[in-house]
Amino acid sequence: MDDLNLNPEAYEAEREKMVVGQIERRGLRDPRLLQAFRTVPRHEFVPEELRYRAYDDGPLPIGLGQTISQPYIVALMTSLLGLRGYETVLEIGTGSGYQAAILGQMAARVITIERHPQLAERAQEVLQRLGYRNIEVHCADGTLGWPEHAPYPAIVVTAAAAFLPQPLAAQLAPGGRLVVPVGDYTGQVLQVWTHEKGGMAHENVIPVSFVPLRGKYGWSQEDWSRFGEEVED
Ligand code: SAH
Repeated sequence: MDDLNLNPEAYEAEREKMVVGQIERRGLRDPRLLQAFRTVPRHEFVPEELRYRAYDDGPLPIGLGQTISQPYIVALMTSLLGLRGYETVLEIGTGSGYQAAILGQMAARVITIERHPQLAERAQEVLQRLGYRNIEVHCADGTLGWPEHAPYPAIVVTAAAAFLPQPLAAQLAPGGRLVVPVGDYTGQVLQVWTHEKGGMAHENVIPVSFVPLRGKYGWSQEDWSRFGEEVED
């Protein structure tokens, strides 16, 4: 596996297998989406010692108890946003910065929020080194959204919420789409929220498993781990 760490063409071959085998074969066929996954070097977003597994069909640890999501889940969440290319997207949960990089290929601009300073810094460094200039990383409580550029036509939360955080609903533009996993440590359901006459409505998509969303409108350490395993993050 060592040569995978040395040979850029080996990564490219792995990446192509990921796109075809994990994303296209499961029914996501939008050419712009597939092109984004062909372009972004996922191995640059995972810890060096795990690079040989960067294109595996699953999540990977990125430190501080957090994970980079499974490629298919990143693709599905991105596709549920229905991006056309001109949007400013708000992402809550930068983590490794990989999903932000994908969103940056599909939209005009990405505002991404991470609560762990070390992760925010690392993601910022990688994104800068790779030359992604339309992505802004901020270290803050993302459950409060980012009012500066609101309203957003697309908002994606990449951590498990207990419920739809009210500030995010308030920052969603009319006609916009908000994708969020909602549930507890036993599992969540991926939801797509939109404005409907008289309020907000959602559709459930598939069961998923994310690390908890913290912060003012997220899970407290006690409530998440009261039923679950002890999580230190
Ligand atoms: N999208 C990421 C995966 C994110 S894992 C990727 O592509 O790698 C979820 C991330 O959400 C973690 O890094 C966690 O620290 C962060 N997070 C949890 N609660 C948050 C909050 N309230 N505000 C911002 N980030 C939060």
